[in-house]
Amino acid sequence: MLTTEMNTTRLIEEVRDEVEAARARGLRVGCVPTMGALHEGHLSLIRRARQECDYVLTTIFVNPTQFGPSEDLSKYPRPLETDLSLCREEQVDLVFHPDESTMYPPGESTVVDVGGLDSIWEGAHRPGHFRGVSTVVAKLFNIVWAHDAYFGQKDYQQQLLIRRMCKDLCLPVRIQTCPIVRDPDGLALSSRNVYLSDEERQSALALSQSLKLAREQLAAGKEPSAVRAAMLEHLNGTSNVAEQYATVADAETLEELDHVRSEMVALVAAKVGSTRLIDNELISLE
Ligand code: AMP
Repeated sequence: MLTTEMNTTRLIEEVRDEVEAARARGLRVGCVPTMGALHEGHLSLIRRARQECDYVLTTIFVNPTQFGPSEDLSKYPRPLETDLSLCREEQVDLVFHPDESTMYPPGESTVVDVGGLDSIWEGAHRPGHFRGVSTVVAKLFNIVWAHDAYFGQKDYQQQLLIRRMCKDLCLPVRIQTCPIVRDPDGLALSSRNVYLSDEERQSALALSQSLKLAREQLAAGKEPSAVRAAMLEHLNGTSNVAEQYATVADAETLEELDHVRSEMVALVAAKVGSTRLIDNELISLE
């Protein structure tokens, strides 16, 4: 591992120069895109990149185009100094934290749309969200020129969509998906968990509990439709929880399943109080 000082920059040219220099030295470059407010989930991605790559770059950018008009863009946490110290502790080489005008210069008019996957589940509930995600990730990949990019399974549909985009656009980056990091009681870590009151945090456990229910019932031979009903019942029976979807889908296409498959994913999204949370679990039957 290299032990150099961590650099930070808001500038595209500086990222390009640094990455080019790293590549010229034969180093493998890993990129971890984030919106900041870093927690152990993000750090697990950085640690994996640190293990597998010689030069690790983290991006911190609260991307406005992936937020809907009534979503939490303005109140999204932005603890930049804490994030930078965490990156330093994890021996990140470079943090790119651009301004909005750098990522979206005046007059910009190009977007990336990943058909199909962008309009179901998360896409159906957050119109325009995935256009914002695929567009910003394509820009970041063109700025960073990484060998590997690290994403969390926490945003299951997002990593599928980015894999699709890279394949379709022949982008020369390998997408690595890392497991979901949870609190000991099962709650998936999320930068949005800070919005939850103590009572809501307790209610939020209904999401991971509904996934456990799905895993157990599928293993016991129940059909996906009955499993979905049980997940919905559990979510709807929990105070403060307003379910948005709960399903068992094909792990590759996200098509809702009537019958079990070998590789499935249980997906759930709900509002807990006014905070929107998502979670998922991969389920494979032997
Ligand atoms: P975000 O800052 O929310 O855009 O997330 C940046 C990256 O961290 C995404 O690839 C997320 O999927 C990943 N991530 C967020 N929460 C977790 C978690 N609890 N476990 C693993 N990865 C996560």
